[in-house]
Amino acid sequence: MNYVDRTLCTTIHISVTQLIALIMSDGISAVKYQVTVKQVDKYIKPTEQAKADLQSIGMMDEKGKLKLKGVSPKMLKRMKLEAVDCPVLQKEIGFVQCYVCKNFQSRISGQVYCIGNPL
Ligand code: SF4
Repeated sequence: MNYVDRTLCTTIHISVTQLIALIMSDGISAVKYQVTVKQVDKYIKPTEQAKADLQSIGMMDEKGKLKLKGVSPKMLKRMKLEAVDCPVLQKEIGFVQCYVCKNFQSRISGQVYCIGNPL
């Protein structure tokens, strides 16, 4: 490795935490809440309103079966046993509903980055 390569590597070597902080200072600045994803024993079904929203955007069929793009059946099964204490709705909701919520920004290390606008 020559001097230029070493300098470049030193310059761009930042930790994941620093990278997240960097991203948050820019593109994810609209995030209002950081919500912990927790495990639950039983699937918390989406509300009727959430089901209607999911069907309108093609993420759920008429029978109520979820069709999330890019989510494998195994991952979906795991997502169904996760929940968040939603700071906007002020109640516990299933992670599937959170995942398709318009306030959902991203999920990093078990934390949902939520925009926090009124629903
Ligand atoms: S993304 Fe939506 S459902 Fe999830 S915590 Fe934020 S407001 Fe609640």
